[in-house]
Amino acid sequence: MPMARSDLTVQEFDYLIVGGGSAGCVLAARLSEDADASVCLLEAGKPDTSVFVRVPAGTAAMLPTRHNNWAFETEPQPGLNGRRGYQPRGRTLGGSSAINAMIYTRGHPSDYDGWAEAGNPGWSWSEVLPWFRRSEDNSRGADAWHGVGGPLSVSDLRSPNPICEDFLRAAEQAGFARNPDFNGAEQEGVGLYQVTQRNGERWSAARAFLAPARERPNLTVLTRARATRILFEGRRAVGVEYRQGQATMVLRARREVLLASGALQSPQLLMLSGVGPREELRRHGIPVLHERPGVGRDLHDHLDYVSCYRSARRELFGFSVRGAARTLGAMLEFRRQRTGMMTTNFAEAGGFLKTDPGLAAPDVQLHFVVGIVDDHSRKLHWGHGYSCHVCILRPKSRGRVGLRSADPMAAPLVDPNFLGDADDLEVLVRGYKALREIMQADALAPWRGADIYGAALTTDDRIREAIRQRADTVYHPVGSCRMGPDDGAVVDTRLRVHGLEGLRVVDASIMPSVVGGNTNAPTIMIAERAAAMIAEDART
Ligand SMILES: Cc1cc2nc3c(=O)[nH]c(=O)nc-3n(C[C@H](O)[C@H](O)[C@H](O)COP(=O)(O)OP(=O)(O)OC[C@H]3O[C@@H](n4cnc5c(N)ncnc54)[C@H](O)[C@@H]3O)c2cc1C
Repeated sequence: MPMARSDLTVQEFDYLIVGGGSAGCVLAARLSEDADASVCLLEAGKPDTSVFVRVPAGTAAMLPTRHNNWAFETEPQPGLNGRRGYQPRGRTLGGSSAINAMIYTRGHPSDYDGWAEAGNPGWSWSEVLPWFRRSEDNSRGADAWHGVGGPLSVSDLRSPNPICEDFLRAAEQAGFARNPDFNGAEQEGVGLYQVTQRNGERWSAARAFLAPARERPNLTVLTRARATRILFEGRRAVGVEYRQGQATMVLRARREVLLASGALQSPQLLMLSGVGPREELRRHGIPVLHERPGVGRDLHDHLDYVSCYRSARRELFGFSVRGAARTLGAMLEFRRQRTGMMTTNFAEAGGFLKTDPGLAAPDVQLHFVVGIVDDHSRKLHWGHGYSCHVCILRPKSRGRVGLRSADPMAAPLVDPNFLGDADDLEVLVRGYKALREIMQADALAPWRGADIYGAALTTDDRIREAIRQRADTVYHPVGSCRMGPDDGAVVDTRLRVHGLEGLRVVDASIMPSVVGGNTNAPTIMIAERAAAMIAEDART
């Protein structure tokens, strides 16, 4: 696609980064460390000044609403009784790391070894571990697995809710061992999560990486700037067209365009720019610049089921007159000393379990939540309670991202094809049963009220039906611009788009297969590695 216009006023940068989320913030910070490189970051959302971003408990206000959140929905999912799923995604500086639950996990070493074995040399566990450590500033100090002094603050929760200790005891009573560090020698077991917080505040990728770099004269950050297409000369990406308010503008890239718009919007932008499956582009009247059938394909995600319980205990989050008074007190405590209930990430504890002892790695993850989470907190319950999620870590189902329209302001078509592979349902049934054993153990008796959805789940068939009726994402879509050597892949091991020049994709979409854990830290690791590769390639 030719440049929209060639007037001399078009601003030029060495690097244009599209999307200021987890990956984009890392790229902007690392690439602008070189004072000779000029970097421009475009973010469609607002600056991250909202109090709901800074105060960890603010996530509850953003998850179910459009505040800093694209709040996409999926196509109707046949595997979920035809329901449309919900896909929250961050829409501000920091991206999804500005609205997420702040859990810091990396997945299992075998996930990365699997990437390398699938034809991606350089991405094995021993090769990615140094990049995790480089980012990290772990409050527990450095060891073989953890780093200190990096931009990303990782700490223990300052004020864990007292129910968490009873949850962990319940898990032990059900036969699951405690694990003090899911990112250490062993992933399996139950424990408290470490979180991306510093001094009780959320430590998003914007806070960690971008904020310290903002004053650099070679870094320009544009907010409310929505990229509408990538501009090419021949096969080379040379710029980006974007909208800010009513204006449509163009920026030129001297070296590279770096797509970091996330797993749902990076493939959308490629397709809008003529890069993708021929049939999909034709359907929307977009001229084909480069046929690449893998763009948008292989989308997958952690499918998740949440069990919800009522409780008479007012230490838990919920809606009541006494609860409101406690929240007010908690706000004051947060203002004074950055401790208390407002520092919660809600999913304070959890674990990685094997639903079959013969497995080499855990296949389900638990997120234990100190309030009732029903339908992504969109369905509210009067009173207090707690919840436990269980998700499948290595889904076999694959879906796709497509276009709903050629209008760049439209939402992408998101079809994760949940439960498209029958095996995923059986893993989730086994995971639910493990969760139930824990939730029914004695240690949780002092907290226990009604099991809101579980009482009727007396047979495997009823569990299967409940999953189809209530399961949805736990917010880890990946794979839609997959890295690999084959024709179905989108990027190579240096994250360059196959068959094009001057264009990389650097975000969660490049994961060949989702890691068995939360995806923020792995995305930051990917961007750390990419930034080093980009700088290296610029020198040669
Ligand atoms: C509600 C929620 C809870 C989560 N909880 C956790 C957790 O506790 N721990 C964890 O590890 N992971 C969690 N995740 C997942 C994790 O946050 C994401 O995997 C990670 O942030 C993805 O990073 P990314 O850079 O790929 O995309 P994002 O961080 O989503 O960034 C993409 C950015 O691009 C911008 N953008 C999109 N299109 C355009 C365009 N056309 N022009 C300009 N800008 C554009 C977006 O506004 C956004 O800022 C959660 C995610 C969500 C949504």
